[in-house]
Amino acid sequence: MKIHNSNSSLKEALLPFIKNRKSIGFVPTMGALHIGHISLVEQASIENDCVVVSIFVNPTQFDNPNDLQKYPRAIENDIALLKRFSKNIFIFSPNALDLYNQNINSKSYHFSGIENEMEGKHRIGHFDGVGTVLNLFFRIVKPNKAYLGEKDFQQLQIVKKLVEIENLPVKIIGCPIIRESSGLAMSSRNKRLNTDQLNEAILIYKTLLKVKENFKLLSILKLNQLAEKEFKNHPCLTLEYFEIADTETLKTAIYKSKKKKYRAFIASFIDDVRLIDNIALN
Ligand code: AMP
Repeated sequence: MKIHNSNSSLKEALLPFIKNRKSIGFVPTMGALHIGHISLVEQASIENDCVVVSIFVNPTQFDNPNDLQKYPRAIENDIALLKRFSKNIFIFSPNALDLYNQNINSKSYHFSGIENEMEGKHRIGHFDGVGTVLNLFFRIVKPNKAYLGEKDFQQLQIVKKLVEIENLPVKIIGCPIIRESSGLAMSSRNKRLNTDQLNEAILIYKTLLKVKENFKLLSILKLNQLAEKEFKNHPCLTLEYFEIADTETLKTAIYKSKKKKYRAFIASFIDDVRLIDNIALN
């Protein structure tokens, strides 16, 4: 397993795979790896001849400098976690200026309106940053398949649009959310929480489950009220949004249609740590 810090070094390492038509799987991450990330690497490793795991905290997708500064970084531990894979694994941990060809700025994208919903509303410019960095990565890594978690479901839908817009020959594979035994979705940001906060944060998943259980019985309005009530006056959790949205368009649902698939989404702060989660409802 080798760690590549420059575009040219990674490209050179991948050349024999490309020449011999071997398949390349790609797992983009921001590091501080956990079992959720590892599940993506496992799937990529089963389905491909080699796997590239990028570890890069992308500055252009952060709208909040404090969040960027405090984002957990743990490269040594990340390398140790990836050592368990015997297959050809390439870690790509680039320097921002090199990755961005000396111009660390976002392109402006239109992802059929998906970019204006939920995370897009609350994190201005976030999906332009995500689109820009993944477009750069896809052109360097040239993967056959890229593996993204449903944990960031809106991002997953955005990336599917990105490859259409940029005409990139990569298949996007969505992977299930991996949770702690408590139900809390695994996240690098959980590393910033103390034991009490980790216990309180379970409310996010509990609320999603409650909404799922009541999905057939209650109207969307009542489901929204039910979720919001769980967070009202909570001593440590502040709900940023709860939404039930159409899985395809991610537009906010106002009423239920039998033909459509829905998911419930939550973003919540615990102190200054922002957590997101979601669940399929039907
Ligand atoms: P991140 O490092 O947070 O940018 O995440 C990198 C990739 O891992 C994204 O595709 C995430 O959706 C995915 N991911 C993060 N947490 C989980 C999880 N708990 N289960 C499955 N995938 C995850």
